[in-house]
Amino acid sequence: MNVAWESAIDLVTKLVRFPSVSHESNEEVSQAVADELFRIGFEVEWLSYRDSEGKTKVSLVAKRGKGTGGVAYLAHTDVVPADDWSLDFCGPFDPVVQDGRLYGRGACDMKGSLACALVAASIVPTDDAAPLYFVVTSDEEVGMHGARLVDRRSQLFEEMVESHTIGIVGEPTKLEVVHAHKGGLRFHVLARGKSAHTSTRDGLNANYALIPALEPMLQLRHATERDPRFQNPMFDPPTLSWNMTITNEPEAVNVTTSLAQLNNFLRLMPGVDVESIVAQVEGICERHQLDFVRSDDVEPWSVAPDAAWIQQMLSLVGRRASQSVCYATDAGVLQRLQAMMICGPGDIQQAHRSDEWISLEQLQLGVETYAKAFCALQSKPSI
Ligand SMILES: [Zn+2]
Repeated sequence: MNVAWESAIDLVTKLVRFPSVSHESNEEVSQAVADELFRIGFEVEWLSYRDSEGKTKVSLVAKRGKGTGGVAYLAHTDVVPADDWSLDFCGPFDPVVQDGRLYGRGACDMKGSLACALVAASIVPTDDAAPLYFVVTSDEEVGMHGARLVDRRSQLFEEMVESHTIGIVGEPTKLEVVHAHKGGLRFHVLARGKSAHTSTRDGLNANYALIPALEPMLQLRHATERDPRFQNPMFDPPTLSWNMTITNEPEAVNVTTSLAQLNNFLRLMPGVDVESIVAQVEGICERHQLDFVRSDDVEPWSVAPDAAWIQQMLSLVGRRASQSVCYATDAGVLQRLQAMMICGPGDIQQAHRSDEWISLEQLQLGVETYAKAFCALQSKPSI
């Protein structure tokens, strides 16, 4: 297994070198992943689109082996920005192995996991009765647009849905098995003004329209966090974790701001209906003559902890119980695939950090776990 482990280190290093931050194109790293998939015998479906800034984004769906059913591994190739990178012995896209860790942006979330799965796929035999699939998306960190495209347009994904393929989302869980996660509700409250130099009378500061609405918004937020109707004890914390940020455009203090925006993000949970909260926010917007803009939700995702594929994976990784987590993944968007779980190497605590890393031990375990899972989870689950 040592050769495979070293291959995984080489492959993570190669993938991290592509600076595939979500607001940039992920075309080059997708090509590298597609090349690797071709090399180990997969057919690859290439799905591309232009994002709102005109950047080309690519998601891949790949299949090896005949028949239907089988197992799928799911990952994303975009990474969060690295502007705050804090290490002086390596750059974010210039990975370094030191003290048993591989440092670099995306090493943990989630190019390390993707490398483990690719190496595992290269060492397990092709099974003609049960195929192995890969789904590798773009824009997971910024709205999951890649997964949405896979859900709408991929022929292979449709085949997976129809034949009840078992999906393993490889986000970092330290190889714990996860059966539920929160989703996301994103909306904006906007006030508009007119931008002008403050030495003139021409401007209208948009903040003056937004500020009176902030107090009722804050009261609603605090009441919602306390209300048991908006909690689910399956999670820790059990609340919606409603977060607010405020942005101004332009931001110069000698110019009146023409746009004031209160940005809101709530973590949706199974069994918690938030539409009454949304209706109250819309009421506040109407009273204060503000605009309300809602983005596409990411649905919370959960499967029964006693589902056959969860139990089978638990026995493979030697754990007693599956977990629930508070972040969202592509599983929220791709849940037409019913038999899913999240299980990947690396610790989510090391993701999105200014010194992101994954331990070499987790990389080794990741290769071993995925190789075992790809072989073992091939029989169709009873759903
Ligand atoms: Zn991720």
